[in-house]
Amino acid sequence: MYFISTRGGEKVTGAAAIVKGLSDNGGLYVPEQFPAMGEKDMQAMLTMSYPERAAYVLKAYLDEYDEAELLKACEQAYGKFEGNDPCPLVKIKDGTYILELFHGPTCAFKDMALTVLPYLLRTGCDISGIKEDILVLVATSGDTGKAALEGFRDAKGIKVMVFYPDEGVSQMQKLQMCTQEGSNVNVVAVKGNFDDCQTAVKEIFNSAECAAKLKERGILLSSANSINFGRLAPQIAYYFSAYLDLVSSEQIAMGDAIDFCVPTGNFGNILAAYYAKRMGLPVRRLHCASNMNNVLTDFLAKGEYNVNREFYKTTSPSMDILVSSNLERLLFEISDRNSTLTAERMAALKSEGVYRITKQEQDKIAETFDGGFADEDEVVEAVYDLFCDTGYTMDTHTGCAMKVANDWAYKNKKDVTPMVIVSTANPYKFPQDVLYCVTGNDVRDSFKGIKRLHAATAMAVPKCLANLKDKPLRFKTSVTKDKMFDEVLKFIG
Ligand SMILES: *Cc1c(COP(=O)(O)O)cnc(C)c1O
Repeated sequence: MYFISTRGGEKVTGAAAIVKGLSDNGGLYVPEQFPAMGEKDMQAMLTMSYPERAAYVLKAYLDEYDEAELLKACEQAYGKFEGNDPCPLVKIKDGTYILELFHGPTCAFKDMALTVLPYLLRTGCDISGIKEDILVLVATSGDTGKAALEGFRDAKGIKVMVFYPDEGVSQMQKLQMCTQEGSNVNVVAVKGNFDDCQTAVKEIFNSAECAAKLKERGILLSSANSINFGRLAPQIAYYFSAYLDLVSSEQIAMGDAIDFCVPTGNFGNILAAYYAKRMGLPVRRLHCASNMNNVLTDFLAKGEYNVNREFYKTTSPSMDILVSSNLERLLFEISDRNSTLTAERMAALKSEGVYRITKQEQDKIAETFDGGFADEDEVVEAVYDLFCDTGYTMDTHTGCAMKVANDWAYKNKKDVTPMVIVSTANPYKFPQDVLYCVTGNDVRDSFKGIKRLHAATAMAVPKCLANLKDKPLRFKTSVTKDKMFDEVLKFIG
């Protein structure tokens, strides 16, 4: 299977796409075609464990990787998760389920992919005959950074450098990153919001000058953001797995259609669901849930993507994003893979902050997607209501999705299609905010938040968060955008 750029002009292997992360012209790599998962594949996967299902889906895209090695990598990756199921499906009520993707080492769904990516990247280098050391450069809205640091820590021949917006992540997220152990990692705060941070990292990727300076030092850049296909591929697997779990628990019959509702920031998670649908998974609708930074809700409703708007800092910081990078992959598909048009739209977004799609394209998107958002009060209500009704505690990001799913159910009372709400973080990752949702109590300190949230919900506190209190802060550097590359050079020495 080959991969092409959404902006045209390139065709590379899966291994090369993963090692490079971003194509030379700034486009994102997409599979030349979607591999089909037919009835036989679904039946085969039905009785498999999660690591086996994940390896099966990965193999469909990454055919030059060794099957047995892929399986071993998935077993190792998901062996690091707490409990015996890396992504359990919890029934909230008839026809409504929560897919918990936060049982990995850093308590956010990013672990589903970032525990596997180091293997995909290292083996990708071997397959492509690359001898240089790799520098993985990450812009994070909070959760990717920690998951990448943990996933890549002490990996041979790979260094990881994470940039996060100094005012844009939660206290817990910051602590998780700045206490990271490992000899090959670095974390730097950047003045600004996530979009500033992500744009600056993309500029380093696209700069010939930066590439030359790194090459002199024997370093090749790669990415662990969801622009990297190696991030996306493992995420496709859990949509299949959730579906198969519904079949094997006799909630649905094989072939029945279901909906997913996904809390969305960079459009990576929900794009993986779309890819699963394109591969043949019986998905009816995908509900794209945003917080107050509802640029995607407006885009889905009006066909215009416009970032010239106020940026809000919310209690779901991992969704505080205006430029959703992975939307480029959807634009490419719905324009009938028109790379010229996709490149023009991305150029317009960069220069004007806005682009439009045609009515025809808008209709095509609407066949599968709809969008909604939750304001801050609505998040509180959604988390509180579910807790009161069922005793189930969810985090604020999942709260956004719950509100959007509730709206859909309210407007479509006769709809019996099962709804799977994707849950992206452990509530203890945002303890003060979730505590406020559940009890109305306000505490400033994260660890007090954890203690009180535990008292209120009796939910188990994950060790990796409770432990943070005693860990020394290793990383304290904060820079402006224009100094980021200097920090990179300092780090690699
Ligand atoms: C990253 C993240 C999201 C957004 O996912 P995208 O793939 O960027 O759309 C939502 N919730 C949490 C907790 C996250 O960490």
